Amino acid sequence: MILITGAAGYIGSHTAINFIQNGCDIVIFDNLEVGHIEIVNELKKLGNVEFEQGDLRNLEDINRVFDKYSIDGVIHFAAFALVGESVTNPSKYYRNNVYGTLNLLDAMVAHDVKKIVFSSTCATYGEPKYTPIDEEHPQSPINPYGNSKLCVEYMLKDYDTAYGLKSIRLRYFNVAGCDEQTRVGEWHDTETHLIPNILKSVCEENKTFKIFGDDYDTPDGTCIRDYVNVEDLAQAHRLAYLYLCENNKSDVFNLGTEQGDSVKEVFNTCEKVLNKKISVETVERRAGDPAKLYADATKAKSILKWSPERTLEKSITTAYNWERKLNKMKAGKQWQ
Ligand code: UDP
Repeated sequence: MILITGAAGYIGSHTAINFIQNGCDIVIFDNLEVGHIEIVNELKKLGNVEFEQGDLRNLEDINRVFDKYSIDGVIHFAAFALVGESVTNPSKYYRNNVYGTLNLLDAMVAHDVKKIVFSSTCATYGEPKYTPIDEEHPQSPINPYGNSKLCVEYMLKDYDTAYGLKSIRLRYFNVAGCDEQTRVGEWHDTETHLIPNILKSVCEENKTFKIFGDDYDTPDGTCIRDYVNVEDLAQAHRLAYLYLCENNKSDVFNLGTEQGDSVKEVFNTCEKVLNKKISVETVERRAGDPAKLYADATKAKSILKWSPERTLEKSITTAYNWERKLNKMKAGKQWQ
């Protein structure tokens, strides 16, 4: 079986679907602090899926899972991921993302499980020294969230040297879109991301979308990011796991489309795809936003044979369908 930590969350749930649909039996481990039981229930409908509620900060919780099931490998998502919150509450980030992962790795070593795919981030690069960013770009994070992910990258290297634990570290750029069939999606109680925030201005009354600064050194003055579709990203996790099984070798890959889109371009694409006028205003820059970030993903393409296929339009359409489902549910209508 494959253990997926954090599969009740956004990227974890999409990856779980990919593994299930490719015939894998999975165990979900999630504390449901940011994940949702409704997502777990959707996943359970799709195949042989076990759910264990627990917290990585308790070593016994995770040891219990390895005792109970025969785990072949781990896909590790469980983490907090709000940059702003990590600045005001770094303790929460180090305790969960770093210490929690340490418990996970120790439980793996104790149970002789030696394969892990880790959800890392382009935030480990910090302020870009050049673009597109390849895997050799220096890692110098500018916030505790990025630091916590980089700490885990170091731990993984050391656990490989000492215990032969093999890992693939996947550094994502900006993740977008949702399951085409709207079974699972992006569901954060605090939403900070660009596309869901634009869509909330469409779905919720009296909400104006705010562009955080239009005076950056980019062609239209707004920040440029690389928006990779979540289903493409899910596929990359399975390819990474297969690579680990076949080669028994640790490695690191960027995951992005290699295409930069500005905030204004994404906003205009939303208006076009949804055929709606969206209320918008420009406000001050958000602290800590680099002007331009996009990936060189040549390595994932050539070694993992990964090819991101879904367009920004597709990501927006699927995210919109999900946002409407979520809104109906929040309005008291049943989950369907
Ligand atoms: N952004 C924005 N308005 C929002 C949310 C985000 O203008 O309501 C901008 C943000 O400043 C950044 C880009 O959109 O330039 C992507 O932000 P997001 O939070 O989605 O991802 P990040 O790149 O910070 O991980």
